[in-house]
Amino acid sequence: MRLKGKVALVTGAGSGLGRAITHRFVEEGAVVVATDVDVDGVQNTANLSQDPSRVIVKRQDVTVESEWMSVTDGVIADFGALDILVNNAGIVHTASIEDETLEGWRRTQAVNLDGVFMGTQAGIKVMKQNGGSIINLSSIEGIIGEASTAAYNASKGGVRIMTKSAALWCCQQNYGIRINSIHPGFIETPMVLNALALMPEVDRLAMEAKLGMAIPMGQMGEPRDIANAALFLATEESRYMTGSELVVDGGYTAQ
Ligand code: NAP
Repeated sequence: MRLKGKVALVTGAGSGLGRAITHRFVEEGAVVVATDVDVDGVQNTANLSQDPSRVIVKRQDVTVESEWMSVTDGVIADFGALDILVNNAGIVHTASIEDETLEGWRRTQAVNLDGVFMGTQAGIKVMKQNGGSIINLSSIEGIIGEASTAAYNASKGGVRIMTKSAALWCCQQNYGIRINSIHPGFIETPMVLNALALMPEVDRLAMEAKLGMAIPMGQMGEPRDIANAALFLATEESRYMTGSELVVDGGYTAQ
């Protein structure tokens, strides 16, 4: 019970990594406020968890500032404090620098970067009295480039470096808030499986071959691999880490 008595907020908790992180935190004793634009998805996350009574389901669009205020104010009103925030909600948009539209670019930044910016601000506001841990989901694609995901690369690179700035600010202010980023490689979630399914066949086959052969550990990761990394960053086991980037990619970026 490494999170007994802790209150966590996880965005994008209706699917994939957000669902796995919610389940892992509940297993370790936390109460999790689980939010998503997909209310049915997040309700299923609660139903499938070890203890549904410790998952509070809320609808939240991370691109809307007023919704951040109402969710974090609600956590304080209901529980008195927020200990852990996981800025997980994200979208992927497959388009090269030549094919990307301004609309696709802006939508990607709105969810993946503006959402994490507003979440980090809102988290600091309610955590600065008692301290806490903020965990931002970047990607290996925030460290290395991919020809077919220009907007996604930019958004995840932004999350990576904004996390360091925010972490340093919280150290300067003595807030007791640690802020770190997680950089998953290819993990079997609806995001990756749907993106593969939408690709033209020639690109999909190339990507599947690449995934099979180019991941040194030989296979895609499971959502629980990322949930375990988030658990580590949420606990005092990582007490000396802030502004760090935790890569969980089966060795992909070690090459
Ligand atoms: P996923 O299965 O698609 O889950 C993402 C969830 O976020 C979905 O429930 C989605 O709802 C929700 N969402 C989308 N826009 C939102 C918004 N504006 N406000 C609130 N919720 C929103 O994706 P995932 O694979 O679990 O990815 C989770 C995070 O990890 C993302 O930030 C992603 O970039 C990052 N990541 C994933 C991988 C991977 O291999 N899976 C690798 C690196 C990084 P809808 O389904 O209704 O859109």
